[in-house]
Amino acid sequence: MKIIRNNIIPFRGFSAINLFGILFVRKEAEIDATVIRHEKIHSAQIVELGYIFFYILYVLEWLFRLIKHGKSAYRNISFEREAYYNQQNKSYLHTRKSYSFLRYL
Ligand SMILES: [Zn+2]
Repeated sequence: MKIIRNNIIPFRGFSAINLFGILFVRKEAEIDATVIRHEKIHSAQIVELGYIFFYILYVLEWLFRLIKHGKSAYRNISFEREAYYNQQNKSYLHTRKSYSFLRYL
């Protein structure tokens, strides 16, 4: 996974963001293997949804979860639930079936 460290992306308060399979990490942020596995799960989701459609669905689901869950909207997005639930599993990406995030809706 390509990782670009910088002081601009993501905004202050966030440590990393996956944009089209490239991980942007703030210079001061510490990331470990778990974070990288989490982001690689997002990369799989991004690729299978044709890149741009992932971001469209992500924002739409976040808005829906915001109404339903308020402050915990982010953690309830299906893409995040799949990534958080499996980020400790080192073999997950080898056994993951396509569109697995649907199981976390
Ligand atoms: Zn995530």
